Amino acid sequence: MNPRLKQDWTSEDSARLYRVRDWGAGYFDLSAKGEVTVKVPFPSGDVQVSLMEIVSGVSERGLQMPLLLRIENLLDARIALLNESFRASIEQKKYGGRYQGVFPIKVNQQRQVIEEIAKFGARYSHGLEAGSKAELIIALSSLPGNDSMVVCNGYKDREFIDLGLRARKLGYRCIFVIETPAELPIIIERSKALGIRPFIGMRAKLATTVGGHWNKTSGDRSIFGLTTTQLIEIVDALKKHDMLDCLQLLHCHLGSQIPNIRDIRQAVMEACRYYINLVQEGAPMGYLDLGGGLAVDYLGSRSNHTQSMNYTLDEYCTDIVEVIMESLDPAGVTHPTIVTESGRPTVAYYSLLVFNVFDVMHFEPAPVPEAPPPQESPLIHNLYETLQRLTPATIQHSFNNTAFYRDEIREMFKRGQISLRSRALAENLVLEIFRRIVDHLETSDGEIPPELTGLREQLADIYYGNLSVFQSLPDHWAIGQIFPVMPIHRLDERPSREAIIADITCDSDGRIDHFIDLHGTRKTLPLHPVKPGEEYYIGVFLVGAYQETLGDLHNLFGDTNVVSVRVNEDGSFDVTRENQGDSIADILGYVQYNAKDIQERFRRTAEQAVRRGAISVAERQEILEGFSAGLRGYTYYGR
Ligand SMILES: *Cc1c(COP(=O)(O)O)cnc(C)c1O
Repeated sequence: MNPRLKQDWTSEDSARLYRVRDWGAGYFDLSAKGEVTVKVPFPSGDVQVSLMEIVSGVSERGLQMPLLLRIENLLDARIALLNESFRASIEQKKYGGRYQGVFPIKVNQQRQVIEEIAKFGARYSHGLEAGSKAELIIALSSLPGNDSMVVCNGYKDREFIDLGLRARKLGYRCIFVIETPAELPIIIERSKALGIRPFIGMRAKLATTVGGHWNKTSGDRSIFGLTTTQLIEIVDALKKHDMLDCLQLLHCHLGSQIPNIRDIRQAVMEACRYYINLVQEGAPMGYLDLGGGLAVDYLGSRSNHTQSMNYTLDEYCTDIVEVIMESLDPAGVTHPTIVTESGRPTVAYYSLLVFNVFDVMHFEPAPVPEAPPPQESPLIHNLYETLQRLTPATIQHSFNNTAFYRDEIREMFKRGQISLRSRALAENLVLEIFRRIVDHLETSDGEIPPELTGLREQLADIYYGNLSVFQSLPDHWAIGQIFPVMPIHRLDERPSREAIIADITCDSDGRIDHFIDLHGTRKTLPLHPVKPGEEYYIGVFLVGAYQETLGDLHNLFGDTNVVSVRVNEDGSFDVTRENQGDSIADILGYVQYNAKDIQERFRRTAEQAVRRGAISVAERQEILEGFSAGLRGYTYYGR
């Protein structure tokens, strides 16, 4: 039975409806009180803290919605899990090498993220991957020079290379991964000039193609990596310069979020062939860097859907270790250090966005009068008749008639043949009929005609959320990424409404209108009726990867407030960092307005109004103070 028809409702029903235990990976759950909890693993067992408790603690500190909440423990837990899983697979398979994780900075460059990875990751010597000069500077300033691994991808100019070479002297295991043949002469020239031997890797363009959204990173037409001919040319050039001993790493990265484990196995198999051949060419090698690609199960469906994954982390680690051994052992090649650059699965869980709902639009009919006024158009009389004759058996027929009458009435209105008042009466009748059809559909067990499934979505509420999709969930807008979305409280109440969420920007793309479902997506989300005078909070989960710096200033909504929280073993939590979001003045500065100039201009306008006698001096003061407060304020919807 449809769980939403059940009379009584508990948190357990909500857990099933929103599938929190499927996508939450054990980090999120519901309390009996009907609130989403974050579950943090401790040696003595899991500790659960209600998100509502955190939200109210943060509100008391004066930070408004929307709010990006980071749970530091979850970042630590992910780094530990990744390293421990590889360690376990290596031990179990008696693999001869070790595992070396590096975090790709581009996935979340925020200082607090990188600092936490450097701090907590130290016990695993977790390194960093840089794709640009700016990211290399972040890496060198965050990690200690005690052999920390820094992988340099991306296009490298002379400055980039000089910095990387000098980092070697300071004690960093800084590797240049050659992306294009043009980089090699610069590396050779600069290393000779500075007298520093480089660590060199090569990025191979594998022929293996993978599924998922980012599959263009793989295959012959990938814009990244070296072709087989180029690889050989580089090997020969290194030999010529007596530098083949510098070649230690093979790199490949097939794109983010690879949903199918078979693709990963295929890619590793191909990468191993390259590796074996480079060893046979006489390069020392030692590192096999498999890039990112380890997925996050946003849908929680354990499938090969682009936003899911059909494998576990343990399977990922074991399969990689196994494929390397099966490939290298027959060739008698020593097992390399396995490097991966997993960013998405490391940080996705750690951040969630919480926002409040500031308005709701319902598509509910007003009370329908007993009978139409006799002078009304025959079409309106027809609608009345359709309404009276509506039964579960006639819904398709009634739907067709109603849509036809409605279109006719709209045509007549355009030609000036009926009044606005009559059209309003008709539209309300149409809504009443459609609403009753949807009610019949909800209770019917039979197949629903496709035309009529769309009807339910057309009548869905619009919840206006205090967020900017462009700023906070850019991938949702740009590439249709789906994140788990659900209310974070009242989950012991039945969510009796179906809704989509519109954001605060004035852009029709600023909406969340596809949601996770077991086999893909659904177009509406069950939500609770908003109670007057009470906030309704919705969470968007798993947003720690890629969303922050891809976001933009559409309609000049800026960075949200950000709060980091650390959960303690006794169930309490500390707010470890508070970052105020952008003020309006900050945002105006980004588009070249100067707050002082703006204030001065407005002051002059107000002064002229005083001179004209339009306002008093006291009013002028009040207006100017309001204006300044506005400039200092948050860019989002306040109260
Ligand atoms: C983006 C990127 C990554 C991160 O991959 P995820 O699968 O998103 O974790 C790793 N390595 C390279 C070279 C990248 O460009």
